[in-house]
Amino acid sequence: MTEAGYRNQPNAITQPDEDITDSDTPLAGPDVRGSVLAGHEYQGPVHPLGAPVDEKAKRSSLVSWVPAALETGHVTIRPNAFVTRVVTDTTGGTVTATGVEFRDTWTGETHEVSADVVVLAAGSIETPRLWLKSGLPDGDWVGRGMTTHWFDMVVGVFDEETLEEQIGQPTLNPHVGQVSAARYEEPGVGCFETFGYNPGLASLVNYSFSRAGYSFDQAVDPADPWDSVGRVVGRDLKSKMADYRRTLSIIVLTDDRPRRENGVALDPRFADEHGPVPLVRWEPHPDDSARREQLARTAATVLRAAGASHVHRVDWPPLLLHIQSTMRMGEVTDAAGEATEVARLFIGDHSLLANGVGGVNPTHTGQALALRTADRIAERYFERE
Ligand SMILES: Cc1cc2nc3c(=O)[nH]c(=O)nc-3n(C[C@H](O)[C@H](O)[C@H](O)COP(=O)(O)OP(=O)(O)OC[C@H]3O[C@@H](n4cnc5c(N)ncnc54)[C@H](O)[C@@H]3O)c2cc1C
Repeated sequence: MTEAGYRNQPNAITQPDEDITDSDTPLAGPDVRGSVLAGHEYQGPVHPLGAPVDEKAKRSSLVSWVPAALETGHVTIRPNAFVTRVVTDTTGGTVTATGVEFRDTWTGETHEVSADVVVLAAGSIETPRLWLKSGLPDGDWVGRGMTTHWFDMVVGVFDEETLEEQIGQPTLNPHVGQVSAARYEEPGVGCFETFGYNPGLASLVNYSFSRAGYSFDQAVDPADPWDSVGRVVGRDLKSKMADYRRTLSIIVLTDDRPRRENGVALDPRFADEHGPVPLVRWEPHPDDSARREQLARTAATVLRAAGASHVHRVDWPPLLLHIQSTMRMGEVTDAAGEATEVARLFIGDHSLLANGVGGVNPTHTGQALALRTADRIAERYFERE
C-alpha cells in the first residue's frame, strides 16, 4: 500500500455452494460444499457441519495445509507431544540444533527425536518460551518486540429507511455470509474492516468489551464523530441488541510497532508441568495509541457518512489475538528465517514477522512466509529433486 484506500477483504474462505438457494437447504456435509453463509467463520472451521476437515470452508492451516502435507506420505504427526527443549550440539564452538525433547502429555513420559533441521512454530508466545527454556543464546530481541494490532471497535446502527435507501433491504444481517467483506488501509497507521459476529459474541465485542468504563458515565465531546463510548449494560444493551440486524461493526487494527519493552520472558516464580510459564507484557505506546485514535475516528466518520443513526466507540482493552514479531527476522534470524546464533534452527510461525505487517489479519502472510522458509531450508540443507 502506498496511499490510503479501500478494497475487498481477501478472506481465506471457500465460495458458497451454488445449491444453497433458500433457508431450508441443509447446511451439513456431504449435501453442501464450501461456505454455508451462516457466519461463525471467526470461530474456526466448523462449517459445513460433518464435512471432513479438508472440506471445511474456512481455510486455516489445519484445513488447507495439514491434510495436504499428510497426503505426501512424508509427514508424521505426533499428537499430545509438547516440546520441552531444543537439543543442541556445541562441538567446535558453533551451536547447532540437532533435535528436540518432548513430553507425552498423556503418559507424562519424555522422549527425544533427532533432526537435520528443527523448525520452531509454537506461536509468538510459546516459541520464545521454548527458546529461553532451552538455554539458547539470549540475544537482544529474543521474545522482544511483540505486536498485537492494538484493536478497537466502532459500531454503527442504521434505521430501516436508510438501509432500504442504501442497500434495498431493511436489515444488514451481520451474521450472514462472509462476515468481513471490505477493508480500509492507511500506510503507516493501520487498517479497519467490517466485522460480523453472532448475537452473543456481538453483545460482547460491540458493547461490553471496553476499558472506558460504563457508557452512561462517559461524556462525549460534541466534536467527536461518535455518539457514545464505553460499556453498554442493562436496558441500554437490550435496546442496542434489539437493533442487531441493523448493526454494522468495524474493527480497527493498528499498525503498532515492535518495541523491546513488549514481549515474552520466563516467569521467575510460576511453572507448569513444562517448566517456567511465559511472562507476557504488552503495553500500548502513546504513538500507537495515536494511530488507533486516528483510525477509530475515520471508521466513525465512514459509518456516519453511510447514514448510521447512532455510532458507538467501544474502546477495547488490549487483546492478544493477533500476536506477532517476538522472534523477528533481521534480529533473531537471518533473511531465510534461520537463527543467527543457532545453526539449523528455523522459526516458522508469526513470531518471525519483523513487524505487525501494517495491521492486516496476519495469517495469509504468516503462511506465505512459512512456505518461503521451507524453500530456504530445502536450498540450504537438503538436495532438491
Ligand atoms: C479467536 C481468534 C480469531 C482469529 N481470527 C483470525 C482471522 O480471521 N484472520 C487472521 O489472519 N488471523 C486470525 N487470528 C490470528 C491467527 O489465528 C494467528 O495469528 C495465527 O494462528 C498464528 O499462527 P502461528 O503459527 O504463529 O501460531 P499458532 O496458530 O498459535 O500455532 C502454534 C501451535 O504450536 C502449538 N504449540 C505451542 N507450544 C508447543 C510446544 N511446546 N510443543 C508442541 N506444540 C506447541 C500450539 O498448540 C499451536 O497449535 C485469530 C486468532 C484468534 C485467537
